[in-house]
Amino acid sequence: MEPEKKENEIPLLNAHNKEEHRPSHTCEHIVNQTMIRLFGCGRSVSAHIERKKSKLDYRLDHCPTAEEVKQLEEAVNEVISRHLPITTEFITQEEAKGRFDMERLPEGASQTVRVVHVGDYDECLCIGSHVENTSEIGTFHIISHDWNEDKKIWRMRFKVG
Ligand SMILES: [Zn+2]
Repeated sequence: MEPEKKENEIPLLNAHNKEEHRPSHTCEHIVNQTMIRLFGCGRSVSAHIERKKSKLDYRLDHCPTAEEVKQLEEAVNEVISRHLPITTEFITQEEAKGRFDMERLPEGASQTVRVVHVGDYDECLCIGSHVENTSEIGTFHIISHDWNEDKKIWRMRFKVG
């Protein structure tokens, strides 16, 4: 069957569950990229973002040391302090292949996907709401964290402001 050509199709993109707290969600992008750079891991495997307290889970090969946790916090705050603009770009799923983890796209995502850039620090596919500049995030604080040895999952709770 020939796919229907819709020139004027409005990109619905992948559905995002809800309107999240923009500064916290934008910070999530920075934390993900910082985790990749510090630990060589992937982006969070699970995320729960709220104004008061947000939660991110990462699959790691070891439990981060106190020094590493401190390093993460400092690195994220350093990026925030660069006052980077958050910009978006629309590309096709075809263009996104090889550049992004397409496994994360939900079934039925539209042909057009949105790339969100945090300056030149991070880029990922996202349909959430973001601040316009990292200067709006404030300070990133890690509230608590714990390690699940069986699952090799590090859970970190943070807030911004
Ligand atoms: Zn986002």
